[in-house]
Amino acid sequence: MSLPGQKSWQDFEAAHVWHPYASMLNPIPAYPVKRADGVYLELEDGRRLIDGMASWWCAIHGYNVPELNVAIETQLGDMAHVMFGGLTHQPAADLARKLLDITPANMNHVFFADSGSVAVEVAIKMALQYWQAQHRPEKHRLLTIRGGYHGDTFGAMSVCDPVGGMHHLFSGLLAQQLFADAPTVRTDEQWNDAQLASFKAMIEQHQHEIAAVILEPIVQGAGGMRMYAPEFLRQVRSLCDEYDVLLICDEIATGFGRTGTLFACEQADIEPDIMCIGKALTGGYMTLAATLCSKRVCDGIHNGDNQRSGVLMHGPTFMANPLACAVALASIELLMESPWQQRVNAIEQQLEDELEPCRAFATIADVRVKGAIGVIEMKQTIHIEQVQKQLVDQGIWLRPFGKLLYTMPPFMINPNQLSRVTTAMKQACILIE
Ligand SMILES: *Cc1c(COP(=O)(O)O)cnc(C)c1O
Repeated sequence: MSLPGQKSWQDFEAAHVWHPYASMLNPIPAYPVKRADGVYLELEDGRRLIDGMASWWCAIHGYNVPELNVAIETQLGDMAHVMFGGLTHQPAADLARKLLDITPANMNHVFFADSGSVAVEVAIKMALQYWQAQHRPEKHRLLTIRGGYHGDTFGAMSVCDPVGGMHHLFSGLLAQQLFADAPTVRTDEQWNDAQLASFKAMIEQHQHEIAAVILEPIVQGAGGMRMYAPEFLRQVRSLCDEYDVLLICDEIATGFGRTGTLFACEQADIEPDIMCIGKALTGGYMTLAATLCSKRVCDGIHNGDNQRSGVLMHGPTFMANPLACAVALASIELLMESPWQQRVNAIEQQLEDELEPCRAFATIADVRVKGAIGVIEMKQTIHIEQVQKQLVDQGIWLRPFGKLLYTMPPFMINPNQLSRVTTAMKQACILIE
């Protein structure tokens, strides 16, 4: 209860607390959530919404998961946090062992970061330090494909899509990276080599100055929710080998089963040199990310004889937070014990069956489905506030952006719940007409 003369917490919050990518002066309303359980978000006014976003890819098991609650409570009894500089603990060791177990075979070392963007910064730093230690400091640029998203810090922003990203806000301040055309061939279409032409030309021309290629394997997330054929990734890997360029796979969105395989790079049967994971790593419980690398990269960083060589220059305050490590380990174990592959396949099938018919609507430009990700691309920009209200009125939580209305639900969503999500998406599309 608020005292007379005191603002409700909602009014106070709206006036003083920033939200993601939002105006403080004229924000779109944020819905107050009281609790969350299973696939449901319960609002302060008692309404229950099916969460079609899994809290931005994270909550793969849904909310209030007994196994994850126990893991975090047990760890809390021992310690919530200690610095990782000069100290260590079993939750970090156990999680690292598990991660090396389930990621591509060449992954050999783990750096724990506190968010995805930081994991990307660390990946970039690893690549740059690797080439410095090889006495090739001129290899300092990154090559990527358009339409990517790698986070909001400055290094990460420099490799986000140059048009859809934030480059225009910081022109002159971001590192000048190299952008090749993204492949347009869908995951289910016949591969043709023309898809690779732009990338191939860029890497050939700039090999001497490229430290690494960074991209999101198979599914480009927040940069436009595009999906592409694994063959592209296979070709990228072999060009990186040919021209002595490291490959960074940003699996922050795609990791932990979302695209149908545990990690998306498995679909191309390739191994990256450096890999970033985050988002679903803790099942949505805590903020944690990691940058993994091969023995070659690690050894390379230590080979040089320049002043700072041998030391990877990064160390977040909350590095390897024990609560986050403990819940991440429990989340991965829960995932591996669950029939996640069947669940993701079933979600994929249902999304295809229920969203594909939307293609016939005049307002719709494209429908895309991969694993537990369903995307409707409209021809016009979506009015977020209006569409979100329609969806909430139907008991569904989604966050459209740009022309995209999309879902990536928790894997344990049942078919009826998922139907409610796709029905609400279809209705939103009709109303947008
Ligand atoms: C979300 C995301 C990031 C950034 O992660 P944060 O935890 O938000 O900093 C980086 N790369 C990809 C592919 C992502 O989806």
